[in-house]
Amino acid sequence: MISQNSETRSHKAQMVLDRFEKKLNRQMVGSLVSCVHCGLCTDSCHYVLANPGDPTYAPAYKADKIRKLFKRHFDWTGKVFPKWVKAGTVMTDEELEELKDTVFGKCTNCRRCTLNCPMGVDFATFNRMARGLLVSVGVMPEGVATVSKDQWEIGNQMGVLPEDYLDTLEWMSEEVSEELGDPAAVIPVDKMDADIVYTINPREVKYDPRSIADALKVFHAAKANWTMPSEGWDMTNFGLFSGDDDLGGAVARRVYEKTIELRGKCLVMSECGHGYRSTRCEGPNWAKFDIPFEMESSVDTMLRYIKEGRIKVDKSKNPDLVTFHDSCNNARSCGLTEEPRELLQLVCENFQEMVPNRAENFCCTGGGGAMSMTEYTPRRLKSAVIKADQMKATGAKIVVTTCHNCVDGLNDLIRHYKLDMKVTQLVNLVANALVWE
Ligand code: SF4
Ligand code: SF4
Repeated sequence: MISQNSETRSHKAQMVLDRFEKKLNRQMVGSLVSCVHCGLCTDSCHYVLANPGDPTYAPAYKADKIRKLFKRHFDWTGKVFPKWVKAGTVMTDEELEELKDTVFGKCTNCRRCTLNCPMGVDFATFNRMARGLLVSVGVMPEGVATVSKDQWEIGNQMGVLPEDYLDTLEWMSEEVSEELGDPAAVIPVDKMDADIVYTINPREVKYDPRSIADALKVFHAAKANWTMPSEGWDMTNFGLFSGDDDLGGAVARRVYEKTIELRGKCLVMSECGHGYRSTRCEGPNWAKFDIPFEMESSVDTMLRYIKEGRIKVDKSKNPDLVTFHDSCNNARSCGLTEEPRELLQLVCENFQEMVPNRAENFCCTGGGGAMSMTEYTPRRLKSAVIKADQMKATGAKIVVTTCHNCVDGLNDLIRHYKLDMKVTQLVNLVANALVWE
């Protein structure tokens, strides 16, 4: 419990400091103490590159706004020599609002600066922690509050109602079975003992059901024993963005428990960077859950189907020049860099790498939940010039990505910078390249 100045500190500020102490772990403290302010990470941030001359976007500057609290209250150097080590505290609700502007509005938690820090400082990790502290006292952008509420109460982050989800699966089943002239080409719902339990991003139900239909075509062509769950189908997790580990754990648990209830052998996640990271990597820790089944991205599944000869593809069906955008969560945080490229080159005739790429790729600028924080849209779109230039330089008219969030971020910047490009995903290209026998 932090007691200094508690007689004049606001209730919310006091709660933030009290909670801060509980969130400190070895990884967090390591990043909070080891910055030597060398500045090597500065130019790795797209906000810095798009706003030359504004030091408030530098990763180390942003990190110091959180670090000063750690130094003042939890580190002996700051307790003894607060001025020397630039330790500081937070007293008022206005100061919490200022911190909100930094941690939500000036960083997409993309972790590019993390990769470029020789001291191993993972700013994005404690920036997320700081978001969680603010969320715990209700200080957050309105969009973050709305999406979190939907995921807590309705079970998915876009507020899709159960009947709308099931109607969409039925609708896609009708479309595909009619198109293929095969009444067996339908989505099995809640099938027990399936090899694959396929989970998706609610954006697919709401804005892009075509990707559900394309997944159905791929599974049907592979003669897969698969199913989609009637509940626990949203593998995205706003807890990753809001920093709320309780939400993160509750959402991940729903997906895991449904997979167990169906006795599924492998939980497959459709193309979504933060969903994959949350469900596969972070979720077991947040939910404190031992996972008794396999988990993989649909990118791995589709690649395996081609390699095993379970589906045949003809890349000449996708003749246009395409480029590839690495999702930050997939590439930087989960190492999923080569599989999408291998798959892409099996289903497309012409591929041009974006530079830089893989773990060094720039954020789509819609990451970290930024698409839901409309108050920062002008700032986000200004910083998107870095991504826009990177995309334009490829000469491609199609940009492929393995993340639904990136689809929205890239579409937004394409509109804003009037680029002659379209965004698509691997499942769309694989389905289009299928050779039916
Ligand atoms: S975070 Fe790392 S790279 Fe950036 S200023 Fe600190 S020590 Fe240098
Ligand atoms: S995590 Fe990404 S957006 Fe945030 S400071 Fe680092 S490079 Fe910039």
